[in-house]
Amino acid sequence: MPVCGNKTRDKIRRDTVIKKFPLYCPKCKQETVIDVQDQK
Ligand SMILES: [Zn+2]
Repeated sequence: MPVCGNKTRDKIRRDTVIKKFPLYCPKCKQETVIDVQDQK
């Protein structure tokens, strides 16, 4: 994941599409807005 290399608890499938999702990183203790495209 393009956050900080830290794994997330959120299970994002390969066919998951996310737009501007505020993903919280418990390691950095901050939110990072991410975009996940369909990776077919
Ligand atoms: Zn992090």
